[in-house]
Amino acid sequence: MSQSQDKEAILAIGAHPDDLECTCAGTLAALARRGYEVHMAVVTNGSCGSYTQDGPTIARIRLAEARRAAEICGAKSFHHLGMPDQGAEDTIERRRELVDLMRRLKATILLGHAPGDYHVDHRLAHALTFAARCAGAAPNFGTEPPLPRMPHLAYFDNEQGLDFEPHIWVDITETMEIKQQMLAAHASQTTLMHDMYGEDLLEMIDRLAHFRGGQRGCRYAEVFRGCGTYPEPDGAIRFLIRALEG
Ligand SMILES: [Zn+2]
Repeated sequence: MSQSQDKEAILAIGAHPDDLECTCAGTLAALARRGYEVHMAVVTNGSCGSYTQDGPTIARIRLAEARRAAEICGAKSFHHLGMPDQGAEDTIERRRELVDLMRRLKATILLGHAPGDYHVDHRLAHALTFAARCAGAAPNFGTEPPLPRMPHLAYFDNEQGLDFEPHIWVDITETMEIKQQMLAAHASQTTLMHDMYGEDLLEMIDRLAHFRGGQRGCRYAEVFRGCGTYPEPDGAIRFLIRALEG
């Protein structure tokens, strides 16, 4: 489907190269299928994601895996925000960089980590995204022209669905296969999850999507929560309803 000029552009921001695949890839693929411009960004390079490769090597591998997953999704672009694994930060300079990216992409919908997630990089990615949302439409900040309005922000689930009260369940049964292909692109993390936790990454995320689907009454689902703050606390949730439920 061709991109319509008047459609919203979505920027999803994950802390590590596989976080978006675990939490919102089915929804991103569904949006891309419906002609929305989907952009994917990762804050850190995943340089701590291997017992056998050194940091620079595994970072290259993981960013290539994430870029491949974004292609499978149908995303229009993929970005790394320049930070190392275990080194996410929410500074004025990082906010400027993210705000300028949002403005270049004309992103009006942001999807990001919820506050209080398990990993400090997830928490800092949340803080960075939340701050950049506030500055997106602010004059005299960054180098790109301000967005016409503050982007809407919704939070995606975490890997185990812990302490997350959804505002919307998105039926992703139609795109679950794409989500699985995107996850499979992260071969290095399939290995790491097995070595670190004795866990199968695809099975773990299949369980989560199946659990969320059971709550909605469909086979597979992903869940989101509005950011709950001024000026439109549920703006991103209403967008998801318009885009995917209409
Ligand atoms: Zn992560």
